[in-house]
Amino acid sequence: MINGYGGSILRVDLTTRSVKREPVTPELAHDWLGGRAWIAKYMYEELPAGVDPLSAANKVFVATGPLSGTLWPSSAKIVWGTKSPLTGGYIDSNMGGLIMAELKYAGLDMIILEGASAIPVYLCIEDDKVEVRDASGYWGEGSVDTEYALKRDLGEDFQIATIGPAGENLVKFACITHDVGRQAGRGGIGAVLGSKKLKAIAVRGTKPIPVADIEGLRKHTTSVIDFIKNTAFFPTFSKYGTTDVTDWCDSVGVIPVNNFQHAQYPKKDRINGKYMREQIYVRDKGCYACPLGCSTYTYSKKYDVHVEGPEYETIGLMGSNLGMDSIEEIAVLNADVDNLGMDSISSGSAVAFAMELYQRGILTKEDFGGLEMTWGNVHAARAFLRLIAARQGIGATFAEGALAAARIIGKGTEKYVVQVKGLDYSAYDTHAAPAMMLAYMTSDIGAQHTRAWAIVQDITMGRGSTEGKGQVVYDLQHLRPLMEVLGVCRFPWLEVKVPWEDYVTALNLVTGQHYTTEGLFAFSEKVWNLTRAFWTREVDGFGRAWDQPPAKMYEEMPDGPTKGARVTQEMVDQLLDGYYQAYRWDQNGLPTAQRLRDVGLGSVADDLVRRGRISD
Ligand code: SF4
Repeated sequence: MINGYGGSILRVDLTTRSVKREPVTPELAHDWLGGRAWIAKYMYEELPAGVDPLSAANKVFVATGPLSGTLWPSSAKIVWGTKSPLTGGYIDSNMGGLIMAELKYAGLDMIILEGASAIPVYLCIEDDKVEVRDASGYWGEGSVDTEYALKRDLGEDFQIATIGPAGENLVKFACITHDVGRQAGRGGIGAVLGSKKLKAIAVRGTKPIPVADIEGLRKHTTSVIDFIKNTAFFPTFSKYGTTDVTDWCDSVGVIPVNNFQHAQYPKKDRINGKYMREQIYVRDKGCYACPLGCSTYTYSKKYDVHVEGPEYETIGLMGSNLGMDSIEEIAVLNADVDNLGMDSISSGSAVAFAMELYQRGILTKEDFGGLEMTWGNVHAARAFLRLIAARQGIGATFAEGALAAARIIGKGTEKYVVQVKGLDYSAYDTHAAPAMMLAYMTSDIGAQHTRAWAIVQDITMGRGSTEGKGQVVYDLQHLRPLMEVLGVCRFPWLEVKVPWEDYVTALNLVTGQHYTTEGLFAFSEKVWNLTRAFWTREVDGFGRAWDQPPAKMYEEMPDGPTKGARVTQEMVDQLLDGYYQAYRWDQNGLPTAQRLRDVGLGSVADDLVRRGRISD
């Protein structure tokens, strides 16, 4: 028994339908903690170099952290990871809900999915009983529909994660859905499950999670919940969740509009959190052990559709970025992609890219099979998303992701795709936000905001300035990803200012160990170097050229609060120089052999030297 852990890793071979349990060793628990750190370690060690992401040799890792499923507020995260079919590099993506707790109650800390089944299957875990079952009856069904169907067939006690038709059809930004509206959205992990013919995972557990000092944890948790509920930020965040940031993003000129052609939205009052509450709100919803409950169930009367959300990223990418009229259009698009099983960020980006090509006359109504892909045309957007999920007509091209689609279409269209490393931008424009842009450029999964959200620093330190921004992003990339190691949500820290030290205290009360902030930041540095090493191993020529911003950021913003702002190559070089210096990487952005050894990755250094990826 190791405090904080269920105790076992479940290895599932989908080719042979065999399963085996491996013990979590004290070394694995102490040296690698859990969550995304375990994923990075296992991915580097177990995936063959150069593996095709959609082949049976790729694996999917599903990991909890030592705080997941405990009393600790918002200990509600589970992390999925694999080699991404969208980017060709490292991807992990976390989801909230309830499944992380159920997995630990079944005595499991991680599942490793290997091989590929010949027929559709789902994994059913009920404490020590594990079966790979026929899923032919669910194949072809929507993500949310499948979850309801499995709950009906297995019982409400089961927690279920599913893929939809997009995952089955290997759409490269297919996601995994759980608890109706929680997604591990980014990087196409759903497509990897589809390639393995794994439709769903259902889990039910009844065992306790061992905790070193349960009384101490109870007292600490009670005081932190009191703190959360008495902060000035609590009423607003628990009411509006991330939608509250919509007005602010509009006012400072970072909201994406018409595929990042503008950064202020004339209809923002029709898509913000306040309008959502007035028009479509049904009730609040929260994840496991969460006092904030930042999510919302909504119902659009106009489209007769129920959905969880929309949250800000969906409002930005499927609302203002597509020129949609109101929150009702965003809600129906949100419901569509949830059930099709596609990442709402990359789905929005694919539609926005298509609409810009239509606007510019590069693709026509005929190319889109009769769809008029004009800004704000919700009917065309919905039909186009269905074409993508089914890989029909031009949908097959866009199912490869916006960047790959541009390369297929040609005609210089790559410059209209807003991405880094093949992963589409989240909903924050960076014409006048260099630190945020650097965060996208250097995130270890591609352009994702959660690794380092640095717009506030851009505003306080100067929006045109690159000075000190490398260090800012370096610091944020140490703290934020630790949340996905521990298995907790970042919002109590980010939105209501629970001190980071309280997380360290909770970790020590749960595990009985003596972790320190300093030690955890050093650990975080090791994990960040490891994911960088994975990219270095997997991608020929990886380095500075892969850390570049989208071409659009070099063009002047035509209007709004950031009118005239643009990025220059000099700024980009300054940002990367400062950032690489902070990490003590070389000028090309590669970890040196010495640096890897210094952070405890000696065998990785040796491996990269042997492969000729770095010099000794
Ligand atoms: S703050 Fe929101 S996302 Fe985080 S655990 Fe709570 S309900 Fe889930």
